[in-house]
This record gives sequence, C-alpha cells and structure tokens, in this order.
Amino acid sequence: MTPIGCQEALQRLYEYLDGELTPDTTEEVRRHIDLCAGCYPEVRSATEFRDALHRAALGQPLCPDALRRKVAEMLREEGLSA
Ligand SMILES: [Zn+2]
Repeated sequence: MTPIGCQEALQRLYEYLDGELTPDTTEEVRRHIDLCAGCYPEVRSATEFRDALHRAALGQPLCPDALRRKVAEMLREEGLSA
C-alpha cells in the first residue's frame, strides 16, 4: 500500500475528524498526520475548528466572559459615536 501524500491527507482531514472514512482510509490518514510535521499545523487548526463548532452546537460559547466584554465594548463605542 502506498502511503498517502499531504494533499490527500488534508483533503480527507474533515471526513477523518468526522469519522466518515472507511477504517482503511482512516488508518492511512491517521498514520500520515501522526508522522508529518508539514500537516501538523493544518491538523491542529482543523481540530480546534471542529471543537469550536461542536461547542457552538452544544450551545456553549467559547468564552462567555470575553464575549460579554466585547459586546459591552461595542455598545459603549456605539454610544460615543452616536
Ligand atoms: Zn503531510
């Protein structure tokens, strides 16, 4: 079996994270991203992105306090410029 390349690994990354690949392909992708430093940043950001999506889907904001501060800030700026 020829190991898959970076392009194929990254193409299948989201399916891999979603568990939508066949066991064989899952294994190939996993083996590649385990060993490939080039794919590592992509894998990391994709994983974080999926985690964020999952949290959002569960109705849990990433960081409620930061969000609330941001909104308060925006409202204050709105008030000053009006
Ligand atoms: Zn790679």
